[in-house]
Amino acid sequence: MISFYPGPSRIYSKVPRYLQDAGNEGIMSINHRSNEFVNLSCKTVSLLREKLFIPEDYTIYFVSSATECWEIIAQSIIEKDSIHLFNGAFGKKWYEYTRKLKPEAQAYPFAIQEPLKAKSFATGEVICITQNETSNGTQVSNKIIQSFRKKNPNHLIAVDATSSMAGIKLDFSLADIWFASVQKCFGLPAGLAVMICSPAALKRAQLVDKRLHYNSLLFMDDMMQQYQTSYTPNVLDIYLLMRVMESVKPIDKINKTIKGRFKKWEKFFDAKSEKLKILITNKTVRSHTVLTLEAQPNVVVTQLKAEARKAGFILGEGYGDLKSTTFRIANFPAIQRKEIARLIDFLYHFI
Ligand SMILES: *Cc1c(COP(=O)(O)O)cnc(C)c1O
Repeated sequence: MISFYPGPSRIYSKVPRYLQDAGNEGIMSINHRSNEFVNLSCKTVSLLREKLFIPEDYTIYFVSSATECWEIIAQSIIEKDSIHLFNGAFGKKWYEYTRKLKPEAQAYPFAIQEPLKAKSFATGEVICITQNETSNGTQVSNKIIQSFRKKNPNHLIAVDATSSMAGIKLDFSLADIWFASVQKCFGLPAGLAVMICSPAALKRAQLVDKRLHYNSLLFMDDMMQQYQTSYTPNVLDIYLLMRVMESVKPIDKINKTIKGRFKKWEKFFDAKSEKLKILITNKTVRSHTVLTLEAQPNVVVTQLKAEARKAGFILGEGYGDLKSTTFRIANFPAIQRKEIARLIDFLYHFI
């Protein structure tokens, strides 16, 4: 089976071998306060920095999931209110989770076919943007994030890049908090996420000064000074992340591959297909890592997915409201060129 599911997704082919190495090297039972762990953690952090082009003065933390990051931000960085700009299910969920902890969180929904427009906000402390909306296959460009920055020099900007980090090139200097879990573009099994904070984000955490939770940012930061975590982390996944980061090309190269493959997908559906159409008609907002396809009425999505399964492909379900009319295809770096060619051959029967 080849998984084109946009998370949990196809892992890098070498991961099972790394897993075996982890067994042989005794990684699965090392103590998270040991030198072995500290070395592993330190090496992983520097590889992330090197391969993803993360600025030197940003701190990288290991957490459990993107969902946890939503909560960490609400508890440690937002004092009163945040601003949530979203056009899909994940951004909305982020807003809803935040609102439970900070009831004054503000929602600014926008249309899926429109680029997000940068505006100035008179209130709010943190502007929350979902860079790649996995539920519908849209993305917010570095340029738009930059204009938010320009128009709101006193706000912090937090970016959920769960289904794009390690797949496309992100300009980390344009925002203060970035996060992603590893079961999407990193091509790893779930159970780990990385959170990346600017000096300004940490300064804000110091002002807010909350240390109420095991995962309060200030507590995490104290521990990370020694490359440790405030709880027993997923050491195995950190090890696998280290091995994957060692082997992958720098992000500008991966970005080029992903964009090239995206162009091919785009051409296939836009130019050749009558029945399967990319849901997002505005090309400027299309995600490069997640494609959402809408089937015209004469093609039944459920039938297509069942046939795909028989042919050895797992396609992504439509998400939320889009469940019955769409399906999704991940364009993540761990997927191989020949696998894409096979899926295209299969899809020819449905176009
Ligand atoms: C998958 C996803 C999440 C949730 O990730 P978890 O690791 O399950 O917490 C959050 N945001 C986006 C954009 C996602 O794609």
